[in-house]
Amino acid sequence: MINMNELTALCDKLGCKITPECPLKEYITFRFGGPCRALISINSAVSAAELLKYLKANDIKYGILGRGSNVLAADEGFDGVILLLGSDFANITVEDNIIKCQAGALLASACVHAQQLGLTGMEHLFGIPGTVGGALYMNAGAYGSEMKDVVVSAQYIDEDCSIRSISAEDMDLSYRHSFFSGKKCVITSVTLKLEKGDPDEIRAAMSECMQKRSSKQPLDHPSAGSTFKRPEGSYASLLIDQCGLKGMSCGGAQVSEKHSGFVINTGDATCSDVLELCGKIKNIVKEKTGYLLELEPEILS
Ligand SMILES: Cc1cc2nc3c(=O)[nH]c(=O)nc-3n(C[C@H](O)[C@H](O)[C@H](O)COP(=O)(O)OP(=O)(O)OC[C@H]3O[C@@H](n4cnc5c(N)ncnc54)[C@H](O)[C@@H]3O)c2cc1C
Repeated sequence: MINMNELTALCDKLGCKITPECPLKEYITFRFGGPCRALISINSAVSAAELLKYLKANDIKYGILGRGSNVLAADEGFDGVILLLGSDFANITVEDNIIKCQAGALLASACVHAQQLGLTGMEHLFGIPGTVGGALYMNAGAYGSEMKDVVVSAQYIDEDCSIRSISAEDMDLSYRHSFFSGKKCVITSVTLKLEKGDPDEIRAAMSECMQKRSSKQPLDHPSAGSTFKRPEGSYASLLIDQCGLKGMSCGGAQVSEKHSGFVINTGDATCSDVLELCGKIKNIVKEKTGYLLELEPEILS
């Protein structure tokens, strides 16, 4: 049971915004999900550590959210507190070729900073929605680049509520995986190292990435991007295509006609619709091709 008066008083003291009974559908790009008991917008590493201490001491379940572009929120909501690392914690500073981002900064903003300063290395990451913290958590990547290529270190609050630093070598970064995967640590800042480059060439590469995305991806519908991880030796979209599943739907969830790697929300999809559709896709793909697909977005739990 959450003592909302006490939690609100703590948030006031820390200067963090708190929204009780907050509908998660407004905070995830798939646009479904019931309410959480409270959503708290983090404004500093110290606030995050204080809040975590309180939540742990009071045995309150918590989840961590960036821009919600790689998560599913259950229809019944989340019976706990969501810590939002977003626009209240989004500062970016640059010194020489080092970019330091608070975890709530948009990855796209970091890419734009880099371009403006003629720093190369992350132009292919431009267009991936979400925060720098979320990108590190998932080791996000696209078009041959991934966070692994540019991250040097990060600061985080560990599950014992201590503020810690970690260098890239210790982050266990691999395809859509990091040291943070499956843990409830809060990444608070991420430091990136880039190389000197030509601003015009960087801008051209960024707009090429955006063009590829808008021509191939169903960006006009809510989704969480690629629904399944790339299985070793193939591509999820290719397998789904081969099985003739393009356009298959459950309720408001549909395999995109434009890109079969994306399940989209056609308007009124629920989390159950998406999970039911994904279950069917996995079964059919396994049966027909032998490949076992794994869901890429995580379920807020
Ligand atoms: C249209 C579209 C296209 C996409 N294209 C790509 C792509 O090309 N490549 C790619 O890799 N991904 C892609 N994605 C998926 C997604 O954008 C990325 O994984 C992104 O990095 C997630 O960032 P986020 O801030 O939205 O994280 P969220 O979705 O909010 O969170 C994702 C996970 O990270 C955890 N998390 C988030 N922030 C923190 C933090 N500060 N500390 C600790 N844990 C945290 C969450 O708890 C959750 O488990 C796409 C998504 C969409 C909707």
